[in-house]
Amino acid sequence: MGAERTPVIAGNWKMNGLKQDGLALAGDVAAGAGTHACEFVICPPATLLAVVAEVVAGSRVQLGAQNCHAEPDGAHTGDISAGMLVDAGCSHVILGHSERRADHGEDDAAVVAKAAAALAAGLTAIVCVGETEAQRDAGLALDVVAAQVAGSVPGDAAAANTIVAYEPVWAIGSGRTPTPSEIQAVHAHIRSALADRLGEETAAAMRLLYGGSMKPGNAAELLAIEDVDGGLIGGASLKAEDFLAIAQSCP
Ligand code: PEP
Repeated sequence: MGAERTPVIAGNWKMNGLKQDGLALAGDVAAGAGTHACEFVICPPATLLAVVAEVVAGSRVQLGAQNCHAEPDGAHTGDISAGMLVDAGCSHVILGHSERRADHGEDDAAVVAKAAAALAAGLTAIVCVGETEAQRDAGLALDVVAAQVAGSVPGDAAAANTIVAYEPVWAIGSGRTPTPSEIQAVHAHIRSALADRLGEETAAAMRLLYGGSMKPGNAAELLAIEDVDGGLIGGASLKAEDFLAIAQSCP
């Protein structure tokens, strides 16, 4: 972790949480976040954004969504614009998660359009990249993530409004993780791809999160990796105790 990059611990609740449980979880995270040195973001389902915004108001916990539409408004039934997320109290939005790339056919062109809309609305975009197991086995992991960075991160992205999350698809929810040296190799490659796209200074300052089966038991090792500036956490973000324990592991 670079000394000048404040770590980010972000929770992706995915499609989990009804009002009662979600509000309790957000309240527990907000109550426990006080003493940690990292930035906190929680990303509940869209139905809970406005109510969770009230629970975390005044705490160190920031609010993120899990998707947005690329257009600011219009005839897009069922979609939510970046401006609507800001209106609901969000400061962040996860974009290009592998589950959206797989379930909704989102390609890099779709992700970069959404990211551009998010930045224009004043949100911080958490842009996800990561290889499948078959791509890793074929020796393509570095090429795949570099292409996703080039295609998914807007050309005017800044370190202040964009975070990149490396999430190997095969590590999500599987209990498996790459080795620290494999993660560092990918993160260094992402930083170099960002330097090509955005310049050295921006790339050096941008936070790169690792995501994929991060838990209290492995967080210290993962968060100590040189170019890992925090975590994007799925399953373990659904228990405040685990999420806060991961944050406590930030170096
Ligand atoms: C995720 O889906 O963003 C994720 C990292 O999930 P998990 O922590 O459950 O592997």
